[in-house]
Amino acid sequence: MSKHPSSYLSSKLEGRLKADQSGNSIFAREAIKRGELIAVFGGVVYEWETFIRLSERERMLCLQVEDRLFLVPRPIGEGDFVNHSCNPNAGLSGQIGLVAMRDIQIGEEVCFDYAMCDTMPYDEFDCLCGAPNCRGHVGGNDWQLPQLQKRYAGFFSPHVQRRIDAQKAERRAFARAMRNARSGAIIQPSVAPLYE
Ligand SMILES: [Zn+2]
Repeated sequence: MSKHPSSYLSSKLEGRLKADQSGNSIFAREAIKRGELIAVFGGVVYEWETFIRLSERERMLCLQVEDRLFLVPRPIGEGDFVNHSCNPNAGLSGQIGLVAMRDIQIGEEVCFDYAMCDTMPYDEFDCLCGAPNCRGHVGGNDWQLPQLQKRYAGFFSPHVQRRIDAQKAERRAFARAMRNARSGAIIQPSVAPLYE
């Protein structure tokens, strides 16, 4: 019954149709300070198996919030049209919050990088964001790129951050095992005779 959109968009922003009519975008109507809250995404949460059967439009507007869970806006509102950029001015705060990564000027489009939340191949595309550092293709494994992990530290969705932390812990454990194996190879021959 309610037509109230499931996502919140700060009154400092507005949704607009892109100049080439190819879709909607979110623009700053007022200046926004670094760290300021821009949007809070809402909707219905679907598991992967059900989610992939939804319409393409719903899948494109969703936000991955956990390992195999997806938030689909319903009803759709202006706040659900935040586009991807490889050089974003916004990042995630928790699972559903969007905050400014830097000061945003009036008239700027607000974008975030889908690598901050995506770990599944449900919305992969050739990127036309036009940023000088555009990586050309956006995919479900981009969160693993070391330069993105460094650039977006503190702006990843918690489920992605957990995977990054696990990957780092695994690398450290591997490096430790290699070090132990190497030192073991040197020590062993001199120690071994004592036990004979
Ligand atoms: Zn790009």
